[in-house]
Amino acid sequence: MALVPTMGALHAGHESLMQAAKNHADEVIVSIFVNPTQFGPNEDYLRYPRLPEQDLALCEKAGVAAVFMPEVEQVYPAGFATSVSVKGITEVLCGAHRPGHFDGVATVVARLLMLVRPKAALFGEKDYQQLQVIKRMVQDLAIPAEIIGVPIFREHDGLAFSSRNAYLSPQERKSAPILYAELCKSAAAIKGGADIAAILASAKQDIIKAGFDSVDYFSLCDGSSLAELNSYKPGSRLLTAARIGKTRLIDNIAV
Ligand code: AMP
Repeated sequence: MALVPTMGALHAGHESLMQAAKNHADEVIVSIFVNPTQFGPNEDYLRYPRLPEQDLALCEKAGVAAVFMPEVEQVYPAGFATSVSVKGITEVLCGAHRPGHFDGVATVVARLLMLVRPKAALFGEKDYQQLQVIKRMVQDLAIPAEIIGVPIFREHDGLAFSSRNAYLSPQERKSAPILYAELCKSAAAIKGGADIAAILASAKQDIIKAGFDSVDYFSLCDGSSLAELNSYKPGSRLLTAARIGKTRLIDNIAV
């Protein structure tokens, strides 16, 4: 059985994980759980979209065998006292801007994997750092599940599908595809040998000019360790996170 862990508000990106999961197991289980421990105190835990009926209909249409929708008390029963912390890889990129986020992610994924015991679990490259953190954790703790990464599923204009896209105003939605456009432009320039620092600085400027309020990072990193790179090497990844209005969007591509 293969598990697709999600926080619900399901969209075509989640569906692509469910379809990919069918190649790895006869039965697919989707978990839907908005995990409180991965949200910071000023983040969007309370307003995160919750659409259980719509989600169940999507899962049924996608042909999944079962949906696991636990309550917070089932995942974190009274007395729960363990936290899983993956060092190094969690301190950069989103980890630097969301303290404690990846401890919450690692803890809930470890618990979900031990509760459901799938032979495989699928995660999107959309949350590229999360995928690397989970691969590291599963290897370090010898959790008997294969972790499979799935490419990012995008809208026609390049914007990565995300539950948080629902927060965007029509104007913000028009600006949002600049993230993917700048990733593509920068990747091409890096491969063409242009100066990396200049490329990254100009991408950040372009994102602000397009209507974003701030850029948390726009970085070239090693695709496994996520260490920042000053020069291109095979297996590099460009990753970005930027804020527009009340929404924080992330995206990345292979270089
Ligand atoms: P979430 O519900 O946002 O926590 O996402 C659940 C899983 O779906 C995570 O592994 C995400 O990386 C993945 N995912 C979300 N959006 C996309 C997308 N556009 N393409 C591929 N995977 C995605």
